Amino acid sequence: MPILRLALPTPLRRLFDYLPPAGISNDELTQLRPGCRLTVPFGNRELTGYLVEMVEKSALDTEQLKPAVAVLDAAPLVETALLDLCAWAARYYHHPPGEVFVAAFPQKLRKGGPAPALGEPHWALTHQGKGLPEGALKRSARQAAALAMLQSADSIAEQALLDAGVSKAVLRTMQDKALVAREFRLPQPEPATANASLALNPAQQAVLEPLTAALGSFSVHLLEGVTGSGKTEVYLQWIAAAVAQGQQALVLIPEIGLTPQTVARFETRFNATVVVLHSGVTPSERLVAWQTATSGRASIVIGTRSAVFTPLPKLGLIIVDEEHDASYKQQDGFRYSARDVAIKRAQLTSTPILLGSATPALETLHNALSGRYHHHRLPTRAGASTLPDLKAIDLRKQPLRAGLSPALVAAVEETLAAGEQTLLFLNRRGYAPSLQCHDCGWIAQCMACDARLTVHRRQRQLRCHHCGATTGLPAHCGDCQSSHLLTYGLGTEQAEDFLASRFANWPIERVDSDSMQSRTAMSELVERVNTGRPCILLGTQMLTKGHHFTGVGLVGVIDADALMFSPDFRGEERMAQLLTQVAGRAGRGTTPGRVLLQTHHPDHPALQAMLTESYHDRARALLSQREATGMPPFGHLLVLRCDSVNAQAGEAVSYT
Ligand code: ADP
Ligand code: ZN
Ligand code: ZN
Repeated sequence: MPILRLALPTPLRRLFDYLPPAGISNDELTQLRPGCRLTVPFGNRELTGYLVEMVEKSALDTEQLKPAVAVLDAAPLVETALLDLCAWAARYYHHPPGEVFVAAFPQKLRKGGPAPALGEPHWALTHQGKGLPEGALKRSARQAAALAMLQSADSIAEQALLDAGVSKAVLRTMQDKALVAREFRLPQPEPATANASLALNPAQQAVLEPLTAALGSFSVHLLEGVTGSGKTEVYLQWIAAAVAQGQQALVLIPEIGLTPQTVARFETRFNATVVVLHSGVTPSERLVAWQTATSGRASIVIGTRSAVFTPLPKLGLIIVDEEHDASYKQQDGFRYSARDVAIKRAQLTSTPILLGSATPALETLHNALSGRYHHHRLPTRAGASTLPDLKAIDLRKQPLRAGLSPALVAAVEETLAAGEQTLLFLNRRGYAPSLQCHDCGWIAQCMACDARLTVHRRQRQLRCHHCGATTGLPAHCGDCQSSHLLTYGLGTEQAEDFLASRFANWPIERVDSDSMQSRTAMSELVERVNTGRPCILLGTQMLTKGHHFTGVGLVGVIDADALMFSPDFRGEERMAQLLTQVAGRAGRGTTPGRVLLQTHHPDHPALQAMLTESYHDRARALLSQREATGMPPFGHLLVLRCDSVNAQAGEAVSYT
């Protein structure tokens, strides 16, 4: 009897050994493979577990092992390489294997539910049915007719049989006699072909050629290409080469960058099944998408972070777009970096992986510069547009209205009058980041976590942007009951109010996670903006990622200082990335754009560097600073965190 080693959804950092279910047949036992689910007894309940490996020996005595209750799947639900990836991730990130495996299975399958049949119902003759002589079943004309039809083909769609006058009752009778069987068949995959693509420019061609040659074995590639340089076009043509060989492509995109535009661009390019996975997908949709991927029918899977665990038996290449994006890191529970997991997956499956960005993470850039990754560059924009011009606006002593200086207001006015769109960037949602009592100095703080509460006027709420707690907007001070409460600081709602009154004749589109709550909000926005009519786009970093707004002539950064002074050692890197990305939204059409940065520190070296150096040069300068100070990627940093309900006990442990 083999011993079954399972990952169980428990917080324990180990696998669990079980015996096969009592009464399992030899046949069933030989069919059992890693990747099948089983129900097993665990304490006084039953859990759905995932078979990871079958071993000869357990650390426990066989008598101590319990038999599993039942095998749930006749065949593995995911390929072996994905199981290996999960096992690796559990070790590498020191996370309980059961919780890692959960990431690879849709919610609906985690509870032990059946993997529903894919495809359309078909009927086919069984072995016994095929053995019937010509002219059998004479006593039932209707069964004889059905038999004759089924003898003419491998299998026939149920609908076609019904259309030909064969009733379900007849089929069921024959099924009872074990002459026919009902089965689900996938529709024949459409041959995956690519529609007309753009003729690549020489720089793109020089990137695509080595990538295409790299198909079929493991290699890591960085594509460092400025915004609008045609990276996506390279992705599309690389994917076309892979799907033409019957392979599947996995494309990861940042959480917020998941625009309907990106997906539409892939869907219109290929006559192939494109599966989309992101947080807005319902559990049922996710299950279908997952099955389309695992059956090999999906040629292209596009998704956010967790899509890196999608089963893809014919994986041929992986692309991580905007690879520097922070949303690839899961920040709670199973903490992992989808980019790094993707690289491991490429290695385990012998496939090439492409990391693309206008602003690569310094770690990635270091790997490319040191020769560990292949390094490709697209230094200029594709097509007609040119990179925008960056300038600072000195805010010192300027009268400000909702944070906007007269110079910026004038620039907005000019841009709109010229028939172009304006994008204003303010990385703080809500009305104001704090509420204070003018009489006693009280500041509204979160009851749950002590952070300052952000004023949200639209919803008449105070919200904690750290832990998500909300309360109603108070009319009186929490200490002295004064009604003289003042807001401090600036959020997008407040800027929106000012802009709406100052530019009453133009639409103001506020884009932040509050205004973009509904599933369709982003696509509706993109549609409105892409009519090209002048408008003001005002938003947080949600606006800066990957969206393609061709009519934007002016980008204004309302508070560049907020980006400049960060205690994080990655602060300057983030600022350079963010500003480069925001600036990249301007001038994507035919007119060169302008970028204005409002600051109280126009001479600050970090800001000066932004104005005069490209990200390419800036990143290299930052890398040498990191090297000089021994910071990552030249050294390692470790956080030891100690959580305790008892402060003294926690401190005692941390000082030992
Ligand atoms: P990125 O992904 O680097 O931002 P895109 O692939 O989105 O760049 O390309 C930016 C713009 O340039 C798009 O409008 C795209 O259609 C256009 N473009 C890309 N490659 C070419 C090309 N070879 N010839 C003409 N236009 C191109
Ligand atoms: Zn007060
Ligand atoms: Zn809080």
